[in-house]
Parts: sequence; C-alpha cells; structure tokens
Amino acid sequence: MIDHGDVQAALSARIDGEDSNLDDDIVDAHLAECDECQKYWDQSLQLSRSLNSAAGMSPPEDLTELIYAGVEPEFRRVSARRIMLLTVCRVVLALLALVYVVWAGRILGTDLEGAAVRVGIAVALLFVSWKPSQIPGVLLIVGAMFGFSLSFAVLEAITGGAAPWAQLLTLLFTSVVLVAMWVVDYGNPLKVLNAKPV
Ligand SMILES: [Zn+2]
Repeated sequence: MIDHGDVQAALSARIDGEDSNLDDDIVDAHLAECDECQKYWDQSLQLSRSLNSAAGMSPPEDLTELIYAGVEPEFRRVSARRIMLLTVCRVVLALLALVYVVWAGRILGTDLEGAAVRVGIAVALLFVSWKPSQIPGVLLIVGAMFGFSLSFAVLEAITGGAAPWAQLLTLLFTSVVLVAMWVVDYGNPLKVLNAKPV
C-alpha cells in the first residue's frame, strides 16, 4: 500500500510543475480510489488558484487552464486503459463461460451433477462479466473448486491414475482472469472519469 503522504507530496509536485519520486500511473491509480487524497487534490488545485490570483501573478485563468491541460489527458489516458483492460477481461470471461457450457455438455451423460456445476459456473462468469463488483464471491467458488481438483489430481498422480489436468488448468485460468478483472475494476474507471478537478 502506498503512503497517503507520498501521494499527496507527488500531487503537490504536479501542481508546482515539478517531478516527483512516484510514477504518475501509481499516483493516479491511488487518487482514483482514495477519497482522502482526492479531497487533498481538489483543495490543492483550489488553493493554488487562489494563491496565484492573490499574488497578482499571471492571470489565474491561464494558470488553471494550464493545470487542467496537464491533468486531464492523464486522467483520460489512465481511464481509457482501464476500460480497455476491463473489456478484454469481459470477452475472456464470456469465452470461458462458453468453454464451461461445452464441457458440461460433454460430461452430461456420465456426470449430471458435474455438468450442473459447470453450467452454474458459466452463468456466474457471465454475471460477473456484467457486474465485476460481484467477482469475490465467484472467485471463492472457482478457487475452492481448483483446490479440490488439485488435491484430487495429486492423489490420482500418486496412485498412478489419470489426473484431470485440463480441468485444473481451466479452473486456474478462470481464477487468474477473475483476479485480474477484480484488480482492474478495483480502480473504478467511472470514478476517474468523474474526478474532474474543481
Ligand atoms: Zn490516499
């Protein structure tokens, strides 16, 4: 976790037009999810504007526009990348849902219960591709299934049986995609879009 103080120091540096120790991306990602630093940022912008107009330096409108010109593309760039990543995750989840449905169809004849579970996962994946905020619940289920399958596979491998590697890999890949999407969504892009200074 980044220190709020470091982020706020970086934001001050940004307003002063100086370089900071922190990467712009890190600062923006933190700003998007931290109300405290967001508030600091808004207040700093306001303070900077009023200080400059009080000092009677260059016309304050110009300076404010200058700050906006520097800040806005940065916000848009970060949020555009997040939206792109989220879209990629959504597509991958939808494809995975398809994989689970096909998988369910293939084992339907021999394992009705297993088929039902896979259809359930497919529905859950489609649901979280629509509502990423629900990912933790689904991740718990998929993760637990992966854990069980892994212990089963190890047991099979020891006893010389055929371990379900395809099943393991699919569950692992699903978990990874869910975690990735969760992380991307955690820095909610809509928050960044709405975070217009002042
Ligand atoms: Zn903070």
